[in-house]
Amino acid sequence: MRHYIIPIFIPHYGCKHSCIFCNQRKITGRDTPVRHQEVQAIIDEHLARITEKRHIEVAFYGGSFTALPLSMQSELLEPAYTALINKKIHGIRLSTRPDCITHRILENLKKFGVSIIELGVQSLDNTVLEASARGHNALHVFQAMNLIKKMNITCGIQLMPGLPLEDWNSLIHTAYGVIKLVPDFVRIYPTLVIANTQLATRYDDGSYKALSLSAGIIRSAYLKLFFEQQGILTIRTGLQATEDLDKGNIVLAGPYHPAFGEMVDSYIFYCMLAHFIESILPMDKNDPIIIHHHSRDTSKIRGISNQNIKQVKHIYGIDHLILKQDGHNKDEIGFEYNNLYYVLNKKMIFFI
Ligand code: SF4
Repeated sequence: MRHYIIPIFIPHYGCKHSCIFCNQRKITGRDTPVRHQEVQAIIDEHLARITEKRHIEVAFYGGSFTALPLSMQSELLEPAYTALINKKIHGIRLSTRPDCITHRILENLKKFGVSIIELGVQSLDNTVLEASARGHNALHVFQAMNLIKKMNITCGIQLMPGLPLEDWNSLIHTAYGVIKLVPDFVRIYPTLVIANTQLATRYDDGSYKALSLSAGIIRSAYLKLFFEQQGILTIRTGLQATEDLDKGNIVLAGPYHPAFGEMVDSYIFYCMLAHFIESILPMDKNDPIIIHHHSRDTSKIRGISNQNIKQVKHIYGIDHLILKQDGHNKDEIGFEYNNLYYVLNKKMIFFI
């Protein structure tokens, strides 16, 4: 059954921190607190619109839900919980900070039927967390995850490659830390420079260098592939495009693109193509390479605007690449070349 999310944006209200990349008003499009009646109205409005059978979830996004006073958390959750017990929705999820999780808070969330928590982890490198003024360290993340798991609540994490002082070593350290955390899923949001943030000031004075689009794609692809190989699902790469983000004066720098997730997937397939070709070098460039694959992978193999194919042809001087959709599994390519047949899947590709 397809998912339907009823999003409720909780702005910066309640959060005592000031992460250098954060301007929640710009990201969520709100700057005033949400109250009980408003939550009720948003849920009613969405439910009235849904005509097909869907798995419906109410999702509290945008701020640090569990940093709100407990009474306000209960006030906001109550309409969602009523919809849940009346079987009008199927789940309640929220996002929050790792250092705003206690046993008491989790008991209250359980009482109101919350089944999924997303932790804004961003990095597991304390130097990066400090440079980003996160106000928590990696230990808080492990403690929070431990408590959440003990309560049998599904827990996902959000990561932000590209924060100040992050380099490849730091990113790899984070990736291995995530494996130890064993989250139920991951979202990867490369760091963007949003207007009116401390990061924007640092970007302007030259003390922060934003990731380029290609660097953001490569770091995200590394994380996604590494997690996938360890059995951890990445459910999103790149922020969802919104009217606000697309305006042009909100995202000042950083790897933002409405098709970012697609670009990451295409890059992983580019790596598979390049990996195979490197393994048969030196090759006879007149011999065709036939790329057998699942029909759902064709656009990822081609890349946006056929970029992967053009690049492979350009870099390796290959003239004859033939794409053939057939019985291969998704995420697997069969390469036919010179009377030989090689099969590669995503588990066989390594970045480093
Ligand atoms: S914890 Fe979240 S809401 Fe608070 S300042 Fe940081 S990013 Fe913004």
